[in-house]
Amino acid sequence: MDCIFCKIIAGEIPSNKVYEDDTMLAFRDINPMAPCHVLVIPKTHIASLDEVTAENSEIIAKIFEKIPAVAKAAGVTKGYRLISNCGEDACQSVKHLHFHILGGKKLPENMA
Ligand code: AMP
Ligand code: ZN
Repeated sequence: MDCIFCKIIAGEIPSNKVYEDDTMLAFRDINPMAPCHVLVIPKTHIASLDEVTAENSEIIAKIFEKIPAVAKAAGVTKGYRLISNCGEDACQSVKHLHFHILGGKKLPENMA
């Protein structure tokens, strides 16, 4: 499959890893929008939030369980924002579900 994040999971493309286990990988965004910008992705290819189902939602639960530890491992101390862009209007550019963790500065109040 021609998916850049699946290639990162397979080790075919290098990444700056923050956390990894059997379910997920967290690595620093190549084009950071904040001093701390980490992407958390499932190791199973799920295209977007629109593809979350009763069959795969356990993966999402496991990711959410780890978000606080990943943010801490990334060096965030004073809070963070969690974002998942889904589909065209949200400008999702990589069609493999990912959660952005943004922090390390005071973020703008306006998100849209
Ligand atoms: P989105 O626009 O929500 O689909 O976010 C995709 C994100 O993936 C962007 O913030 C990109 O900077 C990031 N990205 C794309 N390729 C890589 C890569 N090879 N390593 C790390 N981050 C990447
Ligand atoms: Zn993928």
